Amino acid sequence: MKMVFLGTGATTPSHMRFTPSIVICATRSCLLLDCGEGTQIRLQEAGIDVLKVKYVIITHAHGDHIYGLKPLIDSFIMRGLSQKIKEKKLYIYAPRGFCSAGNQSFTDVVECHEMLSESRESFIEVEEYIFKQLPMLHGDINAFGIYIIIKSNLKHKVDIFYSGDGVCSEECIKFLKTVKPCLIIHEASFLDYYNDSMKAKEKFHATVANAAKLATEVNAKILILTHISSRYRNDDLRDFLSRARRIFNGDIFLASDLSTLYLNRVLCE
Ligand SMILES: [Zn+2]
Repeated sequence: MKMVFLGTGATTPSHMRFTPSIVICATRSCLLLDCGEGTQIRLQEAGIDVLKVKYVIITHAHGDHIYGLKPLIDSFIMRGLSQKIKEKKLYIYAPRGFCSAGNQSFTDVVECHEMLSESRESFIEVEEYIFKQLPMLHGDINAFGIYIIIKSNLKHKVDIFYSGDGVCSEECIKFLKTVKPCLIIHEASFLDYYNDSMKAKEKFHATVANAAKLATEVNAKILILTHISSRYRNDDLRDFLSRARRIFNGDIFLASDLSTLYLNRVLCE
């Protein structure tokens, strides 16, 4: 049971950091959280067969979170044909309007479900994954974060909150306080110095302080920072960790492309 960060950059891909995508592989299948450009290349580099991916959750329809989807679907189909596997399907869960807008590129291999805000109360359960959308504040786009429980067997269960982009709404914070997710994976597009914080507000993104405050407020054990802008290098990157440590006492990591977390080794109890 593992999680691999496929893309940890923001807005546009760079050589070091592709745009957002995380793959979680439990025992039977893998699930993608967002699908930035180049996701299928990083999957190959991580040694994960595209046919192992069965579920894709899209947090919002900004290009950096979705441009990898069409190439991924094409590779999924081609690889299925070459393996003479016909019955494989890719299940996409996305915000309202996404499935109809993507109709032209979706074939009968794809089953696309829109996660409607009216059904916020409910959890979706597929195989080893149980998940739920939580509204994020990210400008005027319909964006949500994902609370997900992964259970590969009865003994081991890990729960994660992945922010996608933006900051948690009140409803999101209220829910996370009740479940106290073990892991928070949060976008940290900006550091929290004055100018950076102002820019974050302008662009409806989160600072490292927003991420660390949320982790503290909801009693998380681990905070992983991702969605790192290419404007930050070297010393700035060290600042991400030290700034987060001022606020959050748990373990803190700065994700890089292809960094891997073995979820069965994560102790949440
Ligand atoms: Zn966005």
